[in-house]
Amino acid sequence: MAGTRELRHYAKDTYYVTSFAELGLHAPILKVLAAGSYDSPTPIQAQAIPHVLAGRDILGIAQTGTGKTAAFALPILHRLAGDLASGNRKRAPGRACRALILSPTRELASQIEERFRFYGRHLGLSATVVFGGVGGGPQIRTMAKGIDVLIATPGRLLDHMSAGFIRLDHVETVVLDEADQMLDLGFVVPIRRIIAALPARRQSLFFSATMPKEIARLASSFLKDSVTVAITPVATTVERVEQRVIMIDAERKRAMLSEILHDPAFTRTLVFTRTKHGADRVARHLETGRISAAAIHGNKSQGQRERALADFRKGQVRVLVATDIAARGIDVEAVSHVINFDMPNVAETYVHRIGRTARAGAAGIAISLCSHDERGQLRDIERLIRQPIPMTDRRGLSAQLGEGAIVDDNVGRPGKHGEGHRHRHGRRGSSRGDNGQRQSHGHERPQDAQKQGQPRHEAPRQPHKPRPQDQQPRGGSNHRPAGLNMVRRPRPGLQHGT
Ligand code: AMP
Repeated sequence: MAGTRELRHYAKDTYYVTSFAELGLHAPILKVLAAGSYDSPTPIQAQAIPHVLAGRDILGIAQTGTGKTAAFALPILHRLAGDLASGNRKRAPGRACRALILSPTRELASQIEERFRFYGRHLGLSATVVFGGVGGGPQIRTMAKGIDVLIATPGRLLDHMSAGFIRLDHVETVVLDEADQMLDLGFVVPIRRIIAALPARRQSLFFSATMPKEIARLASSFLKDSVTVAITPVATTVERVEQRVIMIDAERKRAMLSEILHDPAFTRTLVFTRTKHGADRVARHLETGRISAAAIHGNKSQGQRERALADFRKGQVRVLVATDIAARGIDVEAVSHVINFDMPNVAETYVHRIGRTARAGAAGIAISLCSHDERGQLRDIERLIRQPIPMTDRRGLSAQLGEGAIVDDNVGRPGKHGEGHRHRHGRRGSSRGDNGQRQSHGHERPQDAQKQGQPRHEAPRQPHKPRPQDQQPRGGSNHRPAGLNMVRRPRPGLQHGT
């Protein structure tokens, strides 16, 4: 195959590819890529395509958005097209297919079909998609002729297999896409039945965003002598960004946000809200508190959005409040902090949001304000990122304290988790003035009030050694007790709502 010949001199299992032409893909494929402004392969494409072209099995750890579809579609199309010059193309017999792509959902299956059609549109190959919830007649008629690329959800494919409308003994390459989602949707048994119907001699490509044990087991029974290709944007974003959660009563979120933002360390902060009205309300609240803020969302005109963005870039506006959709187009470097005013409903959105800080390898800080009824979302996020987020519980303070005097002066500062939450001398000012008495109460939960000066460390990351400032009497000093004691929880998602 052209691709493998050209790339043979590279180190074993590792390819350094910067253009699609280097991969040796057929000219009609390159033409489509150029027309579609695909200038260079994404990392998963650069790593996976040469191996797929060479006929190897692949264990790909990558998620949607990384260019994963083209990473398997392009080399599969190339191989199916065969030697274009000879015009000798293999054909699938009736009721058979040459490439099978298994997808967990109809939406993804349709998208994959659309991509295959797009990338292969000058190759004269056939592709079709079959999934449940629609009549099977047209699917059966298309498959009856024999098909080059069949994209299918597992349930409907099994139905067609059992009824004899499709056989898998001519499959040359099979792709299992989004395997972890297959597991979540209960497709493991159907998948195993489908695999059992495949020929032993085949090329298998397995993609999953995560690799829990059950998925790894499935992969090892599916693949032979595979090459692992891992692109893990979630992990890298999650590792780079220092994350904290503040459990807070919903009605106290705005006051908490103002308190946090009074810290000048928050030089360029992106605040996410779920709704457009929420974004407006938060921006108004901050402006009233003399924190320069602007909101961007779908109801703002293009001009308003551009102005807000320009002001944010120049630093004239310190805080940009955005909805997820509006934030998609924001490309601003050096965002110092991301604050989730509302927890996102979709866990992946959390990773996208916090990825706005810590860009280009820089360190960033993300703080999430989580109310009692948002604990489910927090649990989903921790499951996705596979780690607990250090948490501070600030609920139930409003009745005791009223507004203000909430935040530890390290919450927005980088440092190892937990380190930024020790007691500190030295003040950076507070909107409430330096009233030591007030602050020493302000950082304790009501039940802690009796333990004067004893910070509430539940299973701290490092043993808490009392230091002189910890033992200062309350009131009348610069003492500022720990406000955000990080709570380390043993497993994601198990202990919310402490
Ligand atoms: P995927 O991860 O396969 O869902 O792809 C995400 C998006 O990136 C899709 O809209 C693709 O069309 C696009 N895409 C994939 N590969 C490239 C590339 N090399 N250059 C530019 N866009 C790409």
